[in-house]
Order: sequence, then C-alpha cells, then structure tokens
Amino acid sequence: MNIKIDKEKCIGCGTCVALAPGSYKWSEDNLKAEAILPPGDELQTIKDAATACPTLAIAVEE
Ligand code: SF4
Repeated sequence: MNIKIDKEKCIGCGTCVALAPGSYKWSEDNLKAEAILPPGDELQTIKDAATACPTLAIAVEE
C-alpha cells in the first residue's frame, strides 16, 4: 500500500492525523500532513481518513 499526500493541497487541518494516527503524521514544521510508511492502520481507516480530507489531498494506492 502507498499513501501520497499532495502538499500543495494540504491545508494542515489535522483530520487525517486524528482519524488514522498510525498512518498520517505532522511534518516537522507541523504545517502539513505526511504519510507514515508502512502505514499502521487498517486499510478502511486509511481510506476513511483520505475521504475525510477537505481538500482531497490524499491518494491511497492499494
Ligand atoms: S486531512 Fe487533508 S488537508 Fe487535513 S491535514 Fe490531512 S492531508 Fe492535510
């Protein structure tokens, strides 16, 4: 599985980090989300977090 986050689209709302903390984390400057690879959540949880992203910045490849 691969997770890609478009940093241009990410607005740093924190939704993905809150919903799937094993797979998304804050960048070092705490402004953007980054993927944790390999991810530590169930696929559905990872997908749900991606769907919840308000700017659809997350792409999940199975
Ligand atoms: S949910 Fe989307 S906009 Fe919010 S921090 Fe995650 S990637 Fe960025």
